[in-house]
Amino acid sequence: MATWRDPDVTVVGGGMAGCEAAWQLAVRGLRVALVEQKPAAMSPAHQTPLLGELVCSNSLRSNDRDTPAGLLKHELRLAGSLVIGLADRHRVPAGQALAVERFGFGRALTVALALHPNVRIERRPLDELPAGPVIVATGPLTGGPLGALIRRQLGGDRMYFYDAIAPIVSADSIELEHAFRSSRWQREGEDGSAAAAGEDGAAGDYLNCPLDRPTYEAFVDAVLAGRKVTPHEFEEPRYFESCLPIEVMAERGRETLRYGPMRPVGLTDPRTGRWPYAVVQLRPENRYLTAYNLVGFQTRLAYPEQSRIFAMVPALARAEWLRFGSIHRNTYVDAPRVLGPALELRREPRLRLAGLLTGVEGYIESCAMGLVCARLLADELAGRPPAPPPPTTMIGALYHHVTAPREGDYRYAPTNGNFGLLPPATIALHPKDKQGRRRFQLERAARDAAAWADGGAAVVVAGAGAGAGRPESAA
Ligand SMILES: Cc1cc2nc3c(=O)[nH]c(=O)nc-3n(C[C@H](O)[C@H](O)[C@H](O)COP(=O)(O)OP(=O)(O)OC[C@H]3O[C@@H](n4cnc5c(N)ncnc54)[C@H](O)[C@@H]3O)c2cc1C
Repeated sequence: MATWRDPDVTVVGGGMAGCEAAWQLAVRGLRVALVEQKPAAMSPAHQTPLLGELVCSNSLRSNDRDTPAGLLKHELRLAGSLVIGLADRHRVPAGQALAVERFGFGRALTVALALHPNVRIERRPLDELPAGPVIVATGPLTGGPLGALIRRQLGGDRMYFYDAIAPIVSADSIELEHAFRSSRWQREGEDGSAAAAGEDGAAGDYLNCPLDRPTYEAFVDAVLAGRKVTPHEFEEPRYFESCLPIEVMAERGRETLRYGPMRPVGLTDPRTGRWPYAVVQLRPENRYLTAYNLVGFQTRLAYPEQSRIFAMVPALARAEWLRFGSIHRNTYVDAPRVLGPALELRREPRLRLAGLLTGVEGYIESCAMGLVCARLLADELAGRPPAPPPPTTMIGALYHHVTAPREGDYRYAPTNGNFGLLPPATIALHPKDKQGRRRFQLERAARDAAAWADGGAAVVVAGAGAGAGRPESAA
């Protein structure tokens, strides 16, 4: 039981990110007030007074280290994550997935934190900011006075309330013989080779996937008939006109998509010398050109439906999807613009954000951003140089997605952990050796994560089972 008066750090929100952040600070010897609004105030998605409540699925996704989610968990284990450590203990059979018995898991987290001498849990909604460093980890439904307060601190319109995410495809799975590289209205250079920049970017930035008329018609039918994800009760299906889901456009008329994101105008296919009937445009998702997003393809189609329907586009017939499209209620900030390298608000550096608010998606990604935020703050408070995770790791790739400055006019969209975030392999391999490249990325990530984890305070969470919670810290 905590007996001290003033905390070194206040953490707001006892979800995935807040619990992890509080623990990481506490085991480094810092005194933490963890302020959680439940049970006095409940969001529309939360139902229990437990900390670390999983609001929907009880799965933390794959545990297979060769998948992005499995790799992220492996890295989190190396870094001494409380959340993943306890998820392992409360695992239920679910094949390759790490699924947990949600009440046992939530209880264990609550107990581990409640029994830690450096943690004081305060059950109240936090409406005003206390003195000293504060980590805000209030999640996707952040609202009320705290939401308004953060919005004011951000200045301008830098907080979003809905995700509209377009799918991302792995570059090496695109059938290039069915695609062509060109920007809209791109002209050929005078010598006939070098191309001048087009309307929508530098020359050849976009990969265009043409569809002929019968394929387009079948595609529209499939989008109209495809199974959609039903919005939650608290999600009003209100869309921005500039950000409509493809199925809503298809409902407005059979030609609407062809005048919207599938507009072929100005895109000359070099093989025919003509504009195709319709196109799906792919834009690079990263500077390594290993992943592309489908421009304007935000959708509520169910994931298996996206896989099936988008494969009707000839260039995407064998696409490997790194992320599917989605639209849902979410609160997150324009992190690359408003956050600094310690996840601090540029305009109010004692305030840091963690978890979903920073623009990551999913339970484990949110936990990862709680862990990183806490470690960076602990470094600062101990007078150590900050040690952010390397970008070659999945944790680091997420951190860099959140903090890396963007060029030009962009709309920041949240991400989950996916291979498209990792830098490409740096060894010479046969161009078709996809598995070799992936293996290299996985091994490099695990090695660099181990080095990073060791470089921080040596923290052992093995004793943090339900009812235990005695930390072993060194700092
Ligand atoms: C309906 C819904 C379903 C989802 N389903 C999934 C899923 O199946 N799988 C998945 O990976 N992700 C899912 N997500 C996303 C999921 O919420 C995040 O992945 C993850 O829980 C976010 O972690 P977090 O710590 O940022 O926020 P949360 O885990 O939401 O934690 C935020 C905490 O802050 C508290 N809080 C909020 N405001 C205040 C305040 N003013 N004062 C004090 N405390 C406050 C809340 O009570 C809550 O305990 C879902 C989200 C929603 C909204």
